Amino acid sequence: MATSATLAMAAKARELREEGKDIIGLSLGEPDFNIPDFVKDAAINAINENYHSYTPVDGYADLKKAIITKFKRDNHLDYKPNQIVVSTGAKQSLANLAMVLLNEGDEVLLPAPYWVSYSDISKLAGGVPIEIPTTIESDFKITPESLKAAITPKTKMMIYSSPCNPSGSVYTKEELRALADVLVDYPNIIVISDEIYEHINFTDNHASMAVFEDMYDRTVVVNGVSKAYSMTGWRIGYIGGPEWIARACNKMQGQITSGANCIAQRATIIALESSPSKIQYMIDAFKERRKLILGLLSEIPGFKTNQPQGAFYVFPDISYFFGKELQGVKINTASDLSMYLLEKANVATVTGDAFGSPNCIRISYAASEENIIEALKRIKKALT
Ligand code: PMP
Ligand code: GLU
Repeated sequence: MATSATLAMAAKARELREEGKDIIGLSLGEPDFNIPDFVKDAAINAINENYHSYTPVDGYADLKKAIITKFKRDNHLDYKPNQIVVSTGAKQSLANLAMVLLNEGDEVLLPAPYWVSYSDISKLAGGVPIEIPTTIESDFKITPESLKAAITPKTKMMIYSSPCNPSGSVYTKEELRALADVLVDYPNIIVISDEIYEHINFTDNHASMAVFEDMYDRTVVVNGVSKAYSMTGWRIGYIGGPEWIARACNKMQGQITSGANCIAQRATIIALESSPSKIQYMIDAFKERRKLILGLLSEIPGFKTNQPQGAFYVFPDISYFFGKELQGVKINTASDLSMYLLEKANVATVTGDAFGSPNCIRISYAASEENIIEALKRIKKALT
């Protein structure tokens, strides 16, 4: 099993900072905003109200109710409480799902680029990741044809994120329907729809595979509060999905971590019950930063980008540099370039290899405008 490349790079940047280096971290997908005050207050109230005990494994009943209302409000999805499982982060939800659904040798379709942990979580559960390649020209999206070509009798699951980490691509409802039209012929395939960037979407539309009647019974929606509410360290995620899968996740989680943190769950109720308009200021800021970073990147020869529609990453194709020598350093891979930028520009990025796209690097713009400007100035200087 590989170490998480996102977390490894963040750790390396931290280490170099401790040595006194002025590193700008654009590696981790972590909003730099504070948690909104109304959410913080809910947590403080929960402490003062003496919340302290173990929680129900699948989450407090009133949090599940808030999640059900949120699914209805934002996604037009209907769930009952026994279809919801709250977890210690979307990452745990994904791990639960892989462990309960995959048997040794089951194939897991991963439209590439995919979020870094899908592959190793699948392997850990005995699955075999099968990448479905895409190109920057098609906005890093798979097509019904490429999906169909990847399916075998061993295919058990498909995991994708929309908005996508790392490409920022957003599948439209029509595009998802076209993929669903292929999947309807393979009723054994479970779809995991990772919607953690749902609110960080610069298009007007967020679509979920689960809204299609013929997919609802075999789609699990994964979501959480890390990104939209800047609650990364509070560790709350959740799923909505078929009851039999929720029951299995509940059982798995009950043997591994038990219910999620009680204070963070109380705060999550308030976060999810609030109108998404309360976090619009963060989305607006990310949109401005996207414009800023795309503008700055366009001034650097050798960076080819798509126009990300959501999340907070750019995922440039940097294969232009392969085979070249920069300041005496030979660049043969995206990992070489990412390390070169860390050492020569003091900017942390993540190699695309970790996301199944070896021609790209990922740059997170969940950082201040000041840091983005300075980082891109340094990158430009190191590369030209
Ligand atoms: N899915 C995607 C696509 C992500 O980018 C992340 C980032 N952390 C996660 C899941 C996991 O989120 P959480 O913090 O809720 O574990
Ligand atoms: N999801 C974030 C990222 O992709 C956080 C890191 C992680 O959980 O791996 O950078």
